[in-house]
Amino acid sequence: MHDDTSTLGSALRTIPRDQHAISRRQISQSALRVLYRLHEAGHAAYLVGGAVRDILVGLAPKDFDVATDATPEQVKALFRNCRLIGRRFRLAHVVFGREIIEVATFRANVDDGSGDREVHDDGRLLRDNVYGTIEDDAIRRDFTANALYYAIADFSVRDYVGGFEDVENRVLRLIGDPETRYREDPVRMLRAVRLAAKLDFSIAPDTAAPIPQLAGLLAEAAPARLFEECLKLFLSGHAVASFEGLERHGLLGALFPETAKALASNRSGALRTMVVAGLRSTDARIAAGDPVSPAFLFATLLWPAYCRTLMKLQSEGVQPIDAQRRAADRVTLHQLSTVALPRRFSLPMQEIWLLQARFPQRQRKRVTRMLSHPRFRAAFDFLVLRSAASDAHAADVAFWQEAQRDPDHAIALFPGEDDADGEAQAPRRKRRRRRAPAAAG
Ligand code: ATP
Ligand code: MG
Repeated sequence: MHDDTSTLGSALRTIPRDQHAISRRQISQSALRVLYRLHEAGHAAYLVGGAVRDILVGLAPKDFDVATDATPEQVKALFRNCRLIGRRFRLAHVVFGREIIEVATFRANVDDGSGDREVHDDGRLLRDNVYGTIEDDAIRRDFTANALYYAIADFSVRDYVGGFEDVENRVLRLIGDPETRYREDPVRMLRAVRLAAKLDFSIAPDTAAPIPQLAGLLAEAAPARLFEECLKLFLSGHAVASFEGLERHGLLGALFPETAKALASNRSGALRTMVVAGLRSTDARIAAGDPVSPAFLFATLLWPAYCRTLMKLQSEGVQPIDAQRRAADRVTLHQLSTVALPRRFSLPMQEIWLLQARFPQRQRKRVTRMLSHPRFRAAFDFLVLRSAASDAHAADVAFWQEAQRDPDHAIALFPGEDDADGEAQAPRRKRRRRRAPAAAG
């Protein structure tokens, strides 16, 4: 089955069933059905990629991918519930209710990971992909831990790249020459940080070394793909570890240039404290099964950039309300050139920022209006985050906590400031402190 033409000259190691921890009980029924059906039809059938890796380290896989020597057409012929997707490289999706098992034919070429791409030549669709052997399929993958194959034929694990040992040692290692692999696909740098955070693996020194120097290549990656990658980095329950990994490997500036600049120039470290507090609460919500919103996440990640831009505009004499609006727009626009944040998230993100300026206002009418604002709850949660990093917001938090229960009582307890419309939220500008009566908690 394998004609050995690998440039790496990798050797197959087969780990028999009694020497690894993968049991069929950890594999979904749907995936097993696909594997068995392919096998019974005489095809090679393996569970591959993240699922094998996750089971080996004791995590529950998100999804199950299958690799086979059957062509997509042969796969389709075996399953009624199968559709073929992709133009450049055909993949089979076998659908079981809400679960989709992706079945890919062994492929030989390098995968840039960007999924389906049309390649035109005189309007013609080019099929520049060629099918390959299982070994070709293994070495075009990114990390050794992602290139393990669980064979349904004998329940062994097939390892062409030393991945089994790397998983045992909890090391993330690129297959092949790291610099070459990052140049092929710069997003692999983010995947290294993300998977190390998720799996609690170290990154092999050779794999980590080129990252800071090559970080700039991410500017060429598709912004839509970087958005997807951001969601995986920060909304999978390992946001703090991912953020620290990005910082450690010099990638934060490649993803969020303005935020990186703002953090570097914020000597007190309060902005970073606030971001990390936000990511920690995101992780806690995911651990508790609570919903998380990309708008709130990006409001957190880009808050340092917003504050910095706002201060700059105000120092140039722009009036607060105007400065807030312009800072929000400017930060959003700049960010879009690296990460394509869809409008359905960027608009509520901006609202969360702009509402911050309204928290110090305590006239009855304004309080009522604020409480009924559709984004009030998110904005208030955001204020709570800010107060985790700076004691300047404690009184506002106390007031609005009470106001949600009883606005009149809150106003009586905390005599309002007759303030003009937009008190700006420049983070280092100290607002007048009010003392919260102890009773207000
Ligand atoms: P998770 O699903 O936990 O995010 P994963 O490793 O399963 O992690 P996927 O994006 O689902 O990640 O990719 C599935 C598999 O495809 C990977 O395990 C890897 O073998 C291969 N792969 C994904 N992205 C790349 C890439 N950029 N370059 C090479 N191989 C890749
Ligand atoms: Mg996966």
